[in-house]
Amino acid sequence: MTQFFTVDALSPDKELIQRAAKLIQDGGLVAFPTETVYGLGANATDAEAAKKIYAAKGRPSDNPLIIHISRPEDAALYAEVTPAYERLARAFMPGPLTVILKKKSVIPPSVTGGLDTVAVRCPSHPVARALIEASGTAIAAPSANRSGSPSPTAAQHVRHDLDGRIDAIIDGGACEIGLESTIVALTGDDEAVLLRPGAVTYDALCCVLSHVTLSHTLNGALSENERPLSPGMKYKHYAPSAPLVLLDGEESAVLRYLQNAQRTERCAILCYAEETDSLSPEHLLCVGAREDLAAQSASLFAALRQTDGMNIDVVYAHLPTQDGLGLALYNRLIRAAAHTVKYL
Ligand code: AMP
Ligand code: MG
Repeated sequence: MTQFFTVDALSPDKELIQRAAKLIQDGGLVAFPTETVYGLGANATDAEAAKKIYAAKGRPSDNPLIIHISRPEDAALYAEVTPAYERLARAFMPGPLTVILKKKSVIPPSVTGGLDTVAVRCPSHPVARALIEASGTAIAAPSANRSGSPSPTAAQHVRHDLDGRIDAIIDGGACEIGLESTIVALTGDDEAVLLRPGAVTYDALCCVLSHVTLSHTLNGALSENERPLSPGMKYKHYAPSAPLVLLDGEESAVLRYLQNAQRTERCAILCYAEETDSLSPEHLLCVGAREDLAAQSASLFAALRQTDGMNIDVVYAHLPTQDGLGLALYNRLIRAAAHTVKYL
């Protein structure tokens, strides 16, 4: 039986948080909201609890988990902190940034997929922070979805995927950012590799560290036998049931293509607000205004999930820019589409 706790996102009820924290302390699984997506949490120092996460999600056991702390300085309890971590922490924590550090022995190998490094994040969401603090331990938490489906940005997405498989779900409303955290690996005192783009953008990282490189596995497909720096990047992700096709080209050419597709195919369309008047409303999902990357990020995963309930053969979406927050959107969409892009 999965328990449901509904809390205010800004000032969560202390008693409900205590009950959820008790479940974590007892080795249970609790899904909770963060500013990025919902996480599926377990005590990060409990090897058996971490294994339950993999089972509940159907996640491959070599795909490591991110551990969540309530204060940036708590990283030192679980990992070897470096000057570069401290600079990033001052600039971006609490917030949507995950940093890979050398792990301490208190973190069991089942949390890190056997790696000697651990991914550390300090979320800003008041519910996440309250839960971690009340639990008195770091919380290992991947996204609270079944492996392979889009990350959950609302409690009902978690319920759809994991009801009956986990101990509790804390409903704190919709996630503000809607895409998973930025992940960086530190390669020197002033250097990092961007492993997964998120709301802390490449440009923002460059303001703090003098050398930031993009992992070559970021948006390209991996060659056979290649071992990615971030193991999760090799798995197909975020995919809706119907194949997703991304469209690139002049605004007018893309719109003409979509209008024609609506006449001749059973399709769903993730469109911009500016296009809704020119398209038929059936199976049409507006993800935000063309220039509003934050709105598009916040609505992308919910829109992909919505297409799963539609009787369609294909989903169309725009290929986003790779600038700023666009890089994170681009990364999720290109992987959801398994690199299928139509150039018009
Ligand atoms: P999720 O929590 O579902 O957003 O996925 C966590 C992501 O963090 C995956 O893509 C992992 O590969 C990545 N990750 C976690 N720990 C490490 C680590 N020690 N080194 C590199 N990547 C990691
Ligand atoms: Mg995930």
